[in-house]
Amino acid sequence: MTLFDSPAFEGHESVHAFHDEKSGLKCVVAIHSTARGPAAGGCRMWPYPTAEAALEDALRLSRAMSYKNAMADLELGGGKAVIIGDSGVQKTPALFEAFGRAVDDLCGKYWTAEDVGVSPADLSHAREHTRYVAGLEGHPAASGDPSPVTAEGVFRGVRLWVRRKLGRELDGVRVAIQGVGHVGAYLAEKLHAAGARLVLADVNAEAVRRVAAATQAEVVAPSAIFDAEVDVFAPCALGGAVNADTLARLRAKVIAGGANNQLADAAAGREVFERGILYAPDYVINGGGIINVAGEIRALARDEAFDPAWVETKLDRLAQTLEEVLEQAQRERRPTDQVANEIARARIAGAAERRAAA
Ligand code: NAD
Repeated sequence: MTLFDSPAFEGHESVHAFHDEKSGLKCVVAIHSTARGPAAGGCRMWPYPTAEAALEDALRLSRAMSYKNAMADLELGGGKAVIIGDSGVQKTPALFEAFGRAVDDLCGKYWTAEDVGVSPADLSHAREHTRYVAGLEGHPAASGDPSPVTAEGVFRGVRLWVRRKLGRELDGVRVAIQGVGHVGAYLAEKLHAAGARLVLADVNAEAVRRVAAATQAEVVAPSAIFDAEVDVFAPCALGGAVNADTLARLRAKVIAGGANNQLADAAAGREVFERGILYAPDYVINGGGIINVAGEIRALARDEAFDPAWVETKLDRLAQTLEEVLEQAQRERRPTDQVANEIARARIAGAAERRAAA
């Protein structure tokens, strides 16, 4: 199969491979769309077994960023960078300086940020050679930790999904949270404050003990979270939590959480719908984090300070988008993830048409 026939290539505007012999940088930047604005998406460093695997991941992730940015109503397209290498042993300042030069070669078509294996300290080296870097620390445009904003967006989504599916407010609603890291811990606090009763699980025993003590929650073993007697399941750990095995055990009527790639595959999406469970599409409900990063890109591009009020306005708009998805899905009796994908594609296509007509 050639690059252009690959299912992951679908719709991409451009793909760039960079090599720097001196530092050892091998990197792919995939730009899915710039119809809504410059492509934005993080940089992942991972020991891909082959260049093809790196390319495939870059393509998949950059398209996902286009959809996420469109659903968060950001004037940003979607892109992603992947660096081939082991972040544990192969990181050097020179590598990230070379990455910065690569990003700069794209002349602002792509803005980079943190992702798996890449830290703000790494990005500070890239920043020496390009201005198109977000997720830095210690300057007026810096947006800081996105997790509280992600959790606020997820909280609003859970509240909306519970109102629509269960016809009640959060007081007394039982919620199982899988993973109480950055996003899950903030979400637990917010749900507890709203009167929800929590069941928590995390492979990190100390973290789950701490969050449970602060939120009067019950703790169960990580493998038992899928069997909890709850109304809502909120995946906030890794991807793939919703699959054929876990769906057979889940009692919840609502799935709404912060994790990326919650559905293991398309079949899991269909089964969720057939079981009458209302699912909040992950890349929509967890859009608060990218909204926060977009606030930094906006501030850097305008040479201004970070504006939390702009972020708040976008979070309100995100809640409206979630409502749009829900209303259309219920009206047409269709899975919410299908409806969200269609709205995202239409938003991107609409921007491309406006750009072509301008
Ligand atoms: P994190 O690493 O801080 O937290 C993840 C938590 O899940 C950890 O405490 C970890 O111990 C736990 N965990 C891992 N495997 C588990 C398992 N099998 N069972 C139970 N717990 C398990 O990460 P985070 O920043 O909170 O992100 C959580 C999820 O949300 C990820 O999927 C991430 O991609 C997604 N996300 C995060 C943000 C953000 O702003 N941080 C934004 C969008 C999406």
